[in-house]
Amino acid sequence: MAPMYIVMLGPPGAGKGTQAKKIAQNLDLVHVSTGDLFRENLKNETDLGKLAQQYMNKGELVPDDVTVRMVEERLSRPDCELGAVLDGFPRTPEQAEALGDLLEKLGGEVKVVPYIKVPDEDLVERLSGRWMSPSGRVYHEKFNPPKVKWIDDVDGSELYQREDDKPETVRHRIEVYNQQTAPLIDYYRSQEVLVEIDGTKPIEEVTDDIMKAIEEA
Ligand code: ADP
Ligand code: ADP
Repeated sequence: MAPMYIVMLGPPGAGKGTQAKKIAQNLDLVHVSTGDLFRENLKNETDLGKLAQQYMNKGELVPDDVTVRMVEERLSRPDCELGAVLDGFPRTPEQAEALGDLLEKLGGEVKVVPYIKVPDEDLVERLSGRWMSPSGRVYHEKFNPPKVKWIDDVDGSELYQREDDKPETVRHRIEVYNQQTAPLIDYYRSQEVLVEIDGTKPIEEVTDDIMKAIEEA
């Protein structure tokens, strides 16, 4: 069977990570988040992590060549044989072109691009209340609270806030998104794979809407 790839698109805080995890689980695909991969490298103090950190802290994008190489390596691993749910990649037209070339080599293609729409004014609130688990699970102090404050429901580890979720950095990340990533909306629309999803609904409803869009594709 040809591998299937789903690309989650939307501004920072739209719910890409939250939804990508559920969709990947439902479809038995791997969740590939470039943000998580960079953060893992940062934690392990690799050269890639040190390089990425300089950009991440400022809310800038890591250069395309390093990012693309990292994704190529990840998608070529055996666990991605059936495909993947991509979260946070591609983020520039250059990355989208590189992904197209890579998937052709892997014998697959981008099947659906759920574009999660959330107005800018909601994003700062979503990100400033975002609580991360070291496991990668994502909570929100109001919209998706853990059972016990600051504690991961599943493994009991302590939750933390991301350095780049401060309002000043968030506002810059939204600008970067509008300039560098938003052009991908038209790019994927012209390939007839884009599906607009109302990201202001509760988390479960958004998941249902995305699953329906994937089934229809
Ligand atoms: P992204 O990966 O697009 O940056 P996340 O999935 O990390 O977004 O979600 C950002 C924050 O918003 C998290 O704290 C998450 O719990 C919360 N969130 C996600 N989806 C919704 C939703 N539909 N309604 C309210 N809050 C949400
Ligand atoms: P969010 O969930 O808020 O959208 P991510 O976790 O996806 O944020 O990304 C965090 C940071 O990691 C970005 O601000 C950027 O510095 C870097 N990053 C992640 N994905 C990419 C990418 N595809 N290209 C360049 N930089 C990236």
